[in-house]
Amino acid sequence: MLVVTKFGGSSLSCATQFAKVKKIVESDAKRKIVVVSALGKRDSSDTKITDLLYILHAHLKYGVPYEDIWEMLKTRFLTIKEELGLHHAIEEDLESLKKELNKTISEDYLVSRGEYLTAKLMSSYLGYQFVDAKDLICFNYDGKIDYNLTEKKVRLAFSEYGILVVPGFYGAYPNGSIKLLSRGGSDVTGSILAKCLNVSLYENWTDVPGILAADPRIIDHPKAIKEITYEELRELSYMGANVLHEETVFPVQSLNIPINLKNTNDPDNPGTLIKNVCDDTSEIITGLAGKKEFVSFNITKDHMSNEVGFLRKALTIFEKYHVSVDHIPSGIDTFSVIVSATNIEKCQYEIITDLKAELGAEVSLDSDIALVAVVGRNMARRSGICGSIFETLGKENISVKLLAQGPSELNIIIGVSQKDYEGTLKSLYKNLIA
Ligand code: ASP
Repeated sequence: MLVVTKFGGSSLSCATQFAKVKKIVESDAKRKIVVVSALGKRDSSDTKITDLLYILHAHLKYGVPYEDIWEMLKTRFLTIKEELGLHHAIEEDLESLKKELNKTISEDYLVSRGEYLTAKLMSSYLGYQFVDAKDLICFNYDGKIDYNLTEKKVRLAFSEYGILVVPGFYGAYPNGSIKLLSRGGSDVTGSILAKCLNVSLYENWTDVPGILAADPRIIDHPKAIKEITYEELRELSYMGANVLHEETVFPVQSLNIPINLKNTNDPDNPGTLIKNVCDDTSEIITGLAGKKEFVSFNITKDHMSNEVGFLRKALTIFEKYHVSVDHIPSGIDTFSVIVSATNIEKCQYEIITDLKAELGAEVSLDSDIALVAVVGRNMARRSGICGSIFETLGKENISVKLLAQGPSELNIIIGVSQKDYEGTLKSLYKNLIA
């Protein structure tokens, strides 16, 4: 049995956090592959190493003095080395990086040094072999991962060393130049390694108790979800819940490798388990998520329902402007196309003009829409859920502007006015989840 264990930046912000990581890794012999992010914030006023590196790159690019930033960076790594009494000569790594700093240094390369240097320290601390992600995570020139090659390299490194620390967040093109994943991408590195080694579990350690059933900025101390399916997580992440990088589930999902989200500061807490099928039926609703700033194009035409191809013609217009469509609630001779407001900023009038001209329809725009997703695998084929939602919102005098439910019955989307967004989440959480 093998586990890939990934630690986020907040689990690696200082020597005390490093000590917690070591204790966690050593408490289970299955934790043989450790993936690290770059050193994170020590407190809310601190700066993540990755952000410092982006700032450093901008200074270099525009020829602005960068000594102060470099000193901040250097001190963070040296302090951890000193406080933990590590033998690895991190000052030499820092010196050779300093020599490479110039106007044309690649941003991806420079930023990746956050994870690289953090992994060097961690490998020295744990006594695990450092393996550079550039030698494992292989990109094609189109920016996609070459899984065949990556798997070969990962398997080889594992059979050679048995216990390894790998920096997250980057890989390399065939010519060896570094390519970053998108922000938060160390989650994805861990997931790729988990897939390549077909491990029994992918652990993702952060500073939260798991995936929360609602946004903690709106709901006071929402509870953590014990078990959630990959599909449910996808629905919640799409609607704004962000704990894991969105791409994390894809590599492991096909092999049904569970992901366990855990808290480095509270390791005995079971956290959240993400897997293909969950047996826990105790909660009907798994979680809530939502976003403001959607708009609805309301399209009406008499006898539209008899016109074959009407919907296709309308959607072709959105396609022409590269606008992705989120929902299409419909009536008999009317339907609405719901899209994110940011996607139509520059083309909303053109879309309306085209819809009117090409469909001969009446078109109105409602730009005051917030969407709330009620997600739960246990809602399927259970009566009364919509009833409870409407009853709850009715009592709060919240009017529902639109409603969408897919055939999987995994997700009910409710559209409300933006002023009712927080109230909708609060009342649904209180009545249906807490
Ligand atoms: N350090 C990178 C970031 O801040 C990647 C990661 O932490 O996953 O985005």
